[in-house]
Amino acid sequence: MDTAPLVRWLPVEKPESLKPKSTEPRLTVELVPQTCWYSNVRSEVSTGEWDKLKRVTFERANYRCEVCSGRGLKHPVECHEIWDYDDERHIQTLTGLIALCPACHECKHMGFANIKGRGELATDHLAKVNGWTIHQAKTYVRECFQVWQERSQHEWDLDITYLEQFEISSHSSSPRRGDRPGN
Ligand SMILES: [Zn+2]
Repeated sequence: MDTAPLVRWLPVEKPESLKPKSTEPRLTVELVPQTCWYSNVRSEVSTGEWDKLKRVTFERANYRCEVCSGRGLKHPVECHEIWDYDDERHIQTLTGLIALCPACHECKHMGFANIKGRGELATDHLAKVNGWTIHQAKTYVRECFQVWQERSQHEWDLDITYLEQFEISSHSSSPRRGDRPGN
């Protein structure tokens, strides 16, 4: 049975089922909990180190989007931080840095796209990349916001040991507000 039309009446999912499902779509929405907005890679490393991380990520991907293989017009790709959220211990762990075209990156932070009045464009792109109807894309986005709402009720500890492989020192600058795409 297709539960999509009923989703708004379904109970909010329990933490153990907040984990990504095995059949993840090609392009996922990754909403950063509101309580994590100002703790991220960019707030933990210097500008020079962030530039190095971006360059390594972009070169590895040959300046192409790692989801759709596309490139942006103004700039080809942007660096996206992939986080894992431990919903029991409330630890957000950096698990990867990937190159994304601006259109795919915008989908990752759908809340920010909405604020900029670009939610519809982003939803169109999400549907196109995943081979979905607009209705399917909207249903998926709604589910992502339900998870986001639950996660935004908690404080999260940051684990960026992933960066150790890049041989840069963390905590070398204080958090800078407002210089991230946001959620
Ligand atoms: Zn893309």
